Amino acid sequence: KERNPIENEFHQTVKEIFESLIPVFAKHPHYIDNGILERIVEPERLITFRVPWVDDQGKVKVNRGFRVQFNSAIGPYKGGLRFHPTVNASIIKFLGFEQIFKNSLTGQPIGGGKGGSDFDPKGKSDAEIMRFAQSFMSELYRHIGPDIDVPAGDIGVGAREIGFLFGQYKKIRGVYEAGILTGKGLGYGGSLARTEATGYGAVYFVEEMLKDKGLSFKGSTVVVSGSGNVSIYAIEKATQLGAKVVTCSDSNGYIYDPNGINLDTLKKLKEIERKRISEYVDVHPEAEYYEGTSGVWSIPCDIALPCATQNEIDETAANVLVSNGVKAIGEGANMPSTLEAIDVFLANDILFGPAKAANAGGVAVSALEMAQNSIRLSWAFEEVDAKLHQIMEGIYRNCMKAADDYGYPGNLVVGANIAGFLKVADAMIDQGII
Ligand code: NDP
Repeated sequence: KERNPIENEFHQTVKEIFESLIPVFAKHPHYIDNGILERIVEPERLITFRVPWVDDQGKVKVNRGFRVQFNSAIGPYKGGLRFHPTVNASIIKFLGFEQIFKNSLTGQPIGGGKGGSDFDPKGKSDAEIMRFAQSFMSELYRHIGPDIDVPAGDIGVGAREIGFLFGQYKKIRGVYEAGILTGKGLGYGGSLARTEATGYGAVYFVEEMLKDKGLSFKGSTVVVSGSGNVSIYAIEKATQLGAKVVTCSDSNGYIYDPNGINLDTLKKLKEIERKRISEYVDVHPEAEYYEGTSGVWSIPCDIALPCATQNEIDETAANVLVSNGVKAIGEGANMPSTLEAIDVFLANDILFGPAKAANAGGVAVSALEMAQNSIRLSWAFEEVDAKLHQIMEGIYRNCMKAADDYGYPGNLVVGANIAGFLKVADAMIDQGII
């Protein structure tokens, strides 16, 4: 805290991870002797840069760009770019730190990184988005490459933004390197099932948690927050598995649809028209719209999938979920539950799938996109989806095993942190003090 004052989100994730590693150090003190904690918590590199651009009125605007290259022990840095006004060094470092362990859990050879800007894409024209993305890449290009650092999307960065970023990289470098970004369009090196991967993966992970307890999505009521990339495809897969998903939200409010969220309407509103979620009720008058975001957790459900943003479930919301009989939580977003909320879930024996395990499907399929780019082939949707399913089952099993091995049976928070950590820490030790 002395070294990184006011980086609250970063402190929060470091505390969560380091505390769950205590049983590892008790068993294997050589990690302490090798200074792993001091080294792993310090990014290999944190780049910040100026992003000047011109709006549609001809006015010059300046945003701040970030890329944290946190850890390259097991592969090139890999992690998304977030365009959102709340982006700062703390947010990027918390996301980058989480990413190290998440990427390790996927079993793919990818290190941890993250980036973004405090640019707000909301209300901007396509031309403004393009000029901003071009200016952002005009600096970022010198720091990335297929074997160096491979960014992807995150909040505010979808297929449109990745396209503009890719085009600018190609223009500056004069080389067609498909593997410099993932989440690309299908026509120029993207992977089938990447759009769906994080949401589908989160549901596959929760399915495993439920299966172990003789439960399933079939016939269950599900509450989902957010209405972006992760939310839409979590809703799609949960619905395919026989659940009724009754909510979705944005940063202004939430929808409660007792008949189940209509996916066609949701996709049209958010993916094509880029409208606010409040307009859902114009098409479905039986649904209700409520201002404010936290009320979504007061809707009774069997399974909750927070898929919007960090710290969206606090202790109060967690207690409401528990008293309404929730059985399982699967974190689609990064760090959506506060430390106090996680304590509430664990104390009440609620099945809890932490983000770095439950939402690892997106980056796992990004790694599969990199593999396809390297061999210049594209796999079928079913093939990628089957690999994703297998990866999520594998992550679940590894987390459960690590939790068991270190004396916390069933605790996936501890299991995910330990399983993710061991591989990275061992690689760091093998590679010497660097
Ligand atoms: P999107 O930008 O596609 O969607 C984000 C959604 O969350 C939007 O509907 C947004 O609404 C909503 N939102 C933002 N803030 C709040 C809030 N305070 N309360 C309620 N809703 C809010 O982002 P993604 O779906 O890609 O990302 C969502 C989360 O998943 C993030 O935590 C991200 O880091 C994580 N994640 C994403 C991956 C991916 O592959 N995309 C991979 C792994 C994790 P609005 O339009 O009002 O801003």
